[in-house]
Amino acid sequence: MSVLQQKFNSFIPEQEYGDLKQNLNPPFEIVGDEKTKKRITRMINQIVVSETGRKTLEIASKAGYQLGMEFAFGCNGGCNKENKNIVLNPVSEDDVLVGVLIHECRHAGQFERGEYDASDDKRPRNETIKTNIMRTRAVEADAQATAAQVLGEIMEAGNDEPLFAFCRQIDNYPIAKAFQNALRNESALKDGTARTAAFLAWYENEPIKKAYDEAYQVEMMTRREKNNTNRSDTYSVSQPASRIVKELCLNNDGSCYFSDNPKILETGHYVEVNRQTAAKIKDLIDRAPSAKKSIENNPVEDDFKKSSFKTAALTAVLARKTR
Ligand SMILES: [Zn+2]
Repeated sequence: MSVLQQKFNSFIPEQEYGDLKQNLNPPFEIVGDEKTKKRITRMINQIVVSETGRKTLEIASKAGYQLGMEFAFGCNGGCNKENKNIVLNPVSEDDVLVGVLIHECRHAGQFERGEYDASDDKRPRNETIKTNIMRTRAVEADAQATAAQVLGEIMEAGNDEPLFAFCRQIDNYPIAKAFQNALRNESALKDGTARTAAFLAWYENEPIKKAYDEAYQVEMMTRREKNNTNRSDTYSVSQPASRIVKELCLNNDGSCYFSDNPKILETGHYVEVNRQTAAKIKDLIDRAPSAKKSIENNPVEDDFKKSSFKTAALTAVLARKTR
């Protein structure tokens, strides 16, 4: 444990934390000192009062993920597929970390269901850029939508602090607004509409989208070019948003919670890439010797946003959206 961490921990009164019993089966292995274990156990026991939350945690604990705390600048936590561990930033307040723990455990669940690790530079890049972008963004949107859903269920059970803490975070403003709006409808937590509203609102935060596109596209492509592994990357496989939604947006029982038309995720700001980021991706694609030349691999062009086949149903959905 670092000196900074020891100092920080000394600010938290010992009696504030309860015992070490997790109301979860199987319980997580928590790495760290007594205080870390008590802090995380208290978060777990808040989450499990929600059915969606309990299941989300259970999938991660069953898969053997370990929990711990680690300082990180500018981020609240992380989930590592290879080492099977989830870390939380001890500097963040516990009410915030409740939402982060749900988000990271959802990532563990996504990995367990076969999702690829977008920060793995050894993984060949055979999907088109558009598919890569749709997929990596949906992974994050689903993790945040799941956090909102669980926090909503915890609020329903009488504990509203973790949801308020989530809503107060600047990066979550669009999600918080959309989620609260959706909750005006009484059945919204049950029928997937609140979770879908949270999912779709994730895409309204441009700096967040840019940060993920830089990390998962530009950075990975740059590393693969440097390591000479980009020569086998075909960028040729195209997946429709309907498939991505079907594989990611799952309730506990395996059904899909997404209540809108998935096709909207192939259009407009859902796939639009920041101009500078798009230019970097375009350069990297042009230098990848086996990359397929296609509209779906050129995020600079406007056609990228329109490259999906627009059905009459989709046009109707989009018309409704703009009202
Ligand atoms: Zn995430």
